[in-house]
Amino acid sequence: MPEPPRISVVIPVLNEEDSVDRLVTALREALDSGFELIFVDDGSTDATWTRLKTLHESGCVRLVRFRRNFGKTAALMAGFRLTRGDIVITMDGDLQDDPSEIPRFVSKIEEGYGLVSGWKRTRHDPWHKVAASRIFNFVAGWVTGLRLHDINCGFKAYRGDLARSLRLHGEMHRFIPVIVAAQGFRVAEIEVTHHARKYGRSKYGFARLFKGCFDLVTVSLLTRFRERPAHLFGFASLPFFAAALVLGLSGIFPLYVLAGVCWISGVILLTAGWVAEMVAGLAAAAAGQTPLYSIEEQLD
Ligand code: UDP
Ligand code: MG
Repeated sequence: MPEPPRISVVIPVLNEEDSVDRLVTALREALDSGFELIFVDDGSTDATWTRLKTLHESGCVRLVRFRRNFGKTAALMAGFRLTRGDIVITMDGDLQDDPSEIPRFVSKIEEGYGLVSGWKRTRHDPWHKVAASRIFNFVAGWVTGLRLHDINCGFKAYRGDLARSLRLHGEMHRFIPVIVAAQGFRVAEIEVTHHARKYGRSKYGFARLFKGCFDLVTVSLLTRFRERPAHLFGFASLPFFAAALVLGLSGIFPLYVLAGVCWISGVILLTAGWVAEMVAGLAAAAAGQTPLYSIEEQLD
């Protein structure tokens, strides 16, 4: 048996035909031996897969191809499953992240962190994207208590076992530092340089800000109240029941209507909590059974 690699690099790609060859060259220059490169083709419709297959023939990459586009979270999950390294690196496939920075990530992990997240201090993205990201990082830090400059940077390093234990769905890759910190791992941030996108187009537009805000609520729920949603909803219902009681006892007829509304709101919140409890129970039972993605081809 050959030695397992020490570093596994996972790269999700969607229509990055002009970048993958250059990226592999740069990665091989930046890393000594003892690494593996895992590309997950997330349903590309351009020549990305053909280019990747040529790279595979020269023996330097491992590949997964999804049947269709399942999103970056699913792509990362599929990549993590294949990793064998003690350390797992993720980076974007668009040449915006610089492979020469990987050794700095590695030494930070060796200091004992579970996750090291990149911070694109100077960004080369359109202004609205930078602004959206600033707001997102601020709000997310405030809600979750984990204060990072750049939560959603694609360039990250993980302890291998941690990466392989993650079970994420939807677009939860944006919150990996929050989720990992909630599990009790130490999370660090290091500054990275960020290059402008030379080839292809960004896959994320302005809608990301809104999606990110909804997901933020979900993540706070999942990290803090996943096992006890009825506590959250129960607490939320208390003021309504209290108001209903006070209004009901006031003896003023029009306020009875308001009291009724408050009762109903309270009951709705309580029931929502119980429903959430059942969903959480079912989800726990089904975890690991429902596939997130469908693989068309895998080349080791
Ligand atoms: N990506 C992916 N699936 C998607 C969207 C993006 O695998 O559904 C990949 C994309 O090819 C790139 C990385 O995720 O390697 C980051 O995407 P992008 O560069 O478009 O995001 P941005 O840098 O603009 O935030
Ligand atoms: Mg990019």
